[in-house]
Amino acid sequence: MDIEPLASWGLGAPPLIIAGPCSAESEAQVLSVARALKASGRVHLFRAGVWKPRSRPGTFSGEGVKALEWLKIVRTEVQLPVTVEVASPKHVEACIDYGVDVVWLGARTVSNPFSVDEIARALKGTDIPVMVKNPLSPDVELWQGAIERLYEVGLKRLAGVHRGFTPYGDSRYRNIPKWEIAIELRRRIPSLPVICDPSHMTGKADLVPGAAQKALDLNMSGLMIEVHPDPDKALSDKDQQLSPETFVTLIENLVFRKETSDDSGFINHLEDLRSQIDSIDSQLIDLIAQRMRISGIMGEYKCKNSVTVLQLDRWIEILRTRVEQGEQLGLSRSFVEELMQFLHDESIRLQTEVMDHHDKNH
Ligand code: PEP
Ligand code: MN
Repeated sequence: MDIEPLASWGLGAPPLIIAGPCSAESEAQVLSVARALKASGRVHLFRAGVWKPRSRPGTFSGEGVKALEWLKIVRTEVQLPVTVEVASPKHVEACIDYGVDVVWLGARTVSNPFSVDEIARALKGTDIPVMVKNPLSPDVELWQGAIERLYEVGLKRLAGVHRGFTPYGDSRYRNIPKWEIAIELRRRIPSLPVICDPSHMTGKADLVPGAAQKALDLNMSGLMIEVHPDPDKALSDKDQQLSPETFVTLIENLVFRKETSDDSGFINHLEDLRSQIDSIDSQLIDLIAQRMRISGIMGEYKCKNSVTVLQLDRWIEILRTRVEQGEQLGLSRSFVEELMQFLHDESIRLQTEVMDHHDKNH
């Protein structure tokens, strides 16, 4: 895929800062926050939900087309470009009518390929930039699939928005980040800019700065942050919206690092560290291969002696000693546990294969 760079959207150089309320609630609310954001001089694109996908009926579901009128004033008078969530072809038509600059597909919509297809057909022939939030479940295929469906109708100005994934049960964040999924999407589609939405990810205003900095440190292409003139009175997502003042403080405190440096001292030292990592990785792979070979031999040996693949006591002992060694060396318990679990699973798989093979031939 050959997706156009963010700079082609004509909104300024990345990282792109998108800010605005969860929902457009009234003309006064929209204009008040838009003016404050414009005055900050730090915002490239104004967001506001006009049709709100709510989990439960009976909650505020957006003002619809009426709110597009208010956003028109933001574009023309406040002079900030605007972006709106679209969830159906009708929404797309209305956004085109009102000259909305950028649209986005929400997490719920991206979870449904039929909806994505319908929206893609409605957008066909326009060159409006489209942002695609991650689906509710941590499924990189579904996220990639939505981007492909839009790309296939000829849309080349696309971006992903990483907003985290629905947790099961209680969790610190409203949506679990699983940063590795956003990184995997970027690995699969290197030309795709991916923006982070720390507001929906954290669900809590005081956690937004930490997630925003993390996104920048992962070299993501921008941030989408919910800002409300009076968060306590917000009709949706009140816990996670920042006041315009808090937003400005947040932006001022963020550290914007560059992806790389031209300094030759830096480049040489980094090269040096990378070659050490390369050498250690290659030794790790060698050692893992040796470990697996021995597992295979053990599988045959256990088989000949009619002994089960798994000896629970031995596995408990492995875990205990490895975690202990790791902790002495500064590795976290959960990391070593997961690593050993991973190696052990593969070892069990190999030994089971050896036994199945033996059983078939006898
Ligand atoms: C939103 O951005 O207002 C929204 C509804 O987000 P998401 O689709 O990420 O839940
Ligand atoms: Mn919201």
